[in-house]
Amino acid sequence: MDSGYKVSDSRYEGVEFNRCGRSGLLTSPVTLGLWHNFGSSDDFGKAQGMVRFAFDNGITHYDIANNYGSPDGGSAESNFGKILKKDFAAYRDEMIITTKAGYYMWPGPYGDGGSKKYLVASLDQSLNRLGLDYVDIFYSHRPDPATPIEETVDALELAVPSGKALYVGISNYNPEEARTAHEELDRRGIRCLVHQARYSMLDRRPEEGLLDTLDELGMGCVAFSPLEQGILTGRYLNGIPEGSRASGQSVFLNTEQVEARVGVATALNEIARSRGQTLAQMALAWVLRRKTVASVIIGASSVDQIRENLECTEKGPFTPEELGKIDDVVESFQY
Ligand code: NDP
Repeated sequence: MDSGYKVSDSRYEGVEFNRCGRSGLLTSPVTLGLWHNFGSSDDFGKAQGMVRFAFDNGITHYDIANNYGSPDGGSAESNFGKILKKDFAAYRDEMIITTKAGYYMWPGPYGDGGSKKYLVASLDQSLNRLGLDYVDIFYSHRPDPATPIEETVDALELAVPSGKALYVGISNYNPEEARTAHEELDRRGIRCLVHQARYSMLDRRPEEGLLDTLDELGMGCVAFSPLEQGILTGRYLNGIPEGSRASGQSVFLNTEQVEARVGVATALNEIARSRGQTLAQMALAWVLRRKTVASVIIGASSVDQIRENLECTEKGPFTPEELGKIDDVVESFQY
């Protein structure tokens, strides 16, 4: 049912798209992630407002997984499916929509891990909840040490000729696992387009070989939690506000983690200020400075956060001095 919502005609003004690895796929530098704030316990109108604002401001890329949504995993896909149907039925071809499988989703031996049995069934369920014929990218959400990568790749391979996914990707794989997945897919004539990795000023593990490996393989990186779930923003600089992720029941971010990092965030905020940016904007620009990173996936709980974050590309590149200062600050704190 059409909601009567009209998309903005100026949605692509000033947006510079990035190429994802050696592929034809361009992505908006900012992706909207639907891990939090899109579940059945969240405000649907607010979630819908955030997607409308994102699309109207040039965000073409929307990231979900089968298990996103609280309290019932899958509800983020269902809600996003409703939003797509109401507002974006005519705009599917202007969107990159991704989903994943790999973490626990349903009881029994076939609803978790990396088996072909799980991933194939999960993609069908995701498409059903999203109300789509295909997703743009289907990811293996994590490597499963108990399943040979070749088998997980069997499921990714199947998704493409069946028309259920245009591209496939991997997430949370180490450089060796990424290389194996890429080689296995390549052997079967399928491109492994992208790796989704956690990367931020405070979590630099991708710099320990992963980004170089992706470059060599021609894969793009899409970075998740670039704001460290809100720590690298103004959110916690003056305490833990009501309604923030750390103030709730999240098992992913607690008050101790915030308190341990507020010192480094405050010091980084001073550098951001000297660049004429907010901390959130600098944190996103810092991740996007690497050419391998095609997009940063932000989470958001309000339109204002998305607005602020979208301006991350407005300042010039970092000077070597600024990058040095950021490194010195990060190294000088224990967190
Ligand atoms: P971020 O690091 O971007 O943190 C998002 C949170 O930070 C928001 O929910 C909000 O928290 C706060 N925030 C964002 N912008 C601002 C701002 N300008 N000012 C103040 N606070 C702000 O990312 P997430 O950890 O949420 O992850 C982003 C996405 O990455 C997910 O939605 C998902 O799509 C993907 N992801 C993938 C994973 C994987 O394994 N592949 C794992 C985790 C995430 P608050 O609620 O307090 O307002």
